[in-house]
Amino acid sequence: MSAFAIRQPLSAVSSKKVADKLLRATAALHKHLCPRQVLGVRMGVYAGRLLGIDLPQQDKRLIAFVETDGCFTDGVMVATGCSLGHRTMRLIDYGKVAVTVADTKVNRAVRIWPSAGSRQLAAQCAPDAPNRWQAQLDGYQRISDEELLAHAWVDLELSLSAIVGKKGVRVNCDICGEEVLNGREHASAGRSICSHCDGQSYYRPVAK
Ligand SMILES: [Zn+2]
Ligand SMILES: [Zn+2]
Repeated sequence: MSAFAIRQPLSAVSSKKVADKLLRATAALHKHLCPRQVLGVRMGVYAGRLLGIDLPQQDKRLIAFVETDGCFTDGVMVATGCSLGHRTMRLIDYGKVAVTVADTKVNRAVRIWPSAGSRQLAAQCAPDAPNRWQAQLDGYQRISDEELLAHAWVDLELSLSAIVGKKGVRVNCDICGEEVLNGREHASAGRSICSHCDGQSYYRPVAK
């Protein structure tokens, strides 16, 4: 048995193998397995269950809005198939271990976060763990979806089509000349300019 094996079923016996495989995948990606990755995997699997969709997705039907970066997001990625590379994951950095998964086909979204008692429950489920970290790692794999996680159906305050943008469109900024993809250019006095040139930038050149 692998060290990452789940000792008890997640929500159903049949999901054990799937979850085990997902945890191995995220551990390989991340070079270790940690409690937040387990949470990410569990949340991703739960989202599939709630939305009634087989995951990980092979298409771009679902978009995951992760509310923090780090270990957790690798778990979500592996479980859902949503990734930055596929343009199906977005970081909304609230510093929270939470995710909203939106189904673009039927326009509904579910937000998932750890239940209030998840840490204590993890400790109770792993009484022989040598420390809190290990208790969370083990416990998060043993607790049922409903006990570990909370969820709420939500409406998005952003338009999914605006998030995806105009796929395949590219223009060159009329000021800096750099290429801008997916319709992210801004119209300004008859010109198409990039966010940076429009004054909405996260960096500025070093003064010479
Ligand atoms: Zn980690
Ligand atoms: Zn520019």
